[in-house]
Amino acid sequence: MADNGWVDAADIEEELPFGGFDNSEDVEVPAGGDVIGKCPVCGADVVDRDQAYFCSDYDCSFALWKNNRFFQSITKEMTKELATELLEKGEAKLEKCVSVRTGKTFNCVVKMTTDDEERAQFALEFPKRKKKSKED
Ligand SMILES: [Zn+2]
Repeated sequence: MADNGWVDAADIEEELPFGGFDNSEDVEVPAGGDVIGKCPVCGADVVDRDQAYFCSDYDCSFALWKNNRFFQSITKEMTKELATELLEKGEAKLEKCVSVRTGKTFNCVVKMTTDDEERAQFALEFPKRKKKSKED
């Protein structure tokens, strides 16, 4: 037995987990969650759970948290409708937001992107006014 610690790749090839893996019919959706859309990171289903809308792929860390400070700061909630729209279009119109900081009411469009770590990022865009007026 010439065992020098090395194994010929051909000898273990059949054991290697390449090919033959088909997870398509075995996607694990966490129990108790409704699918509300597709994950913008990996394309898996996003499901409604207690604290957030989570990507159903356990390797993916995408989530839309319901207890979301960004939305709380404009007195909005990450509702199912909003999450669904964000997943579908990547943006959603928000009306009658109230800034917690300034108390101002405004309409805006929230855009969702994802960062390198698969986390959802939000940015607000404001409708352009037809009249030119400078405000601070
Ligand atoms: Zn995902």
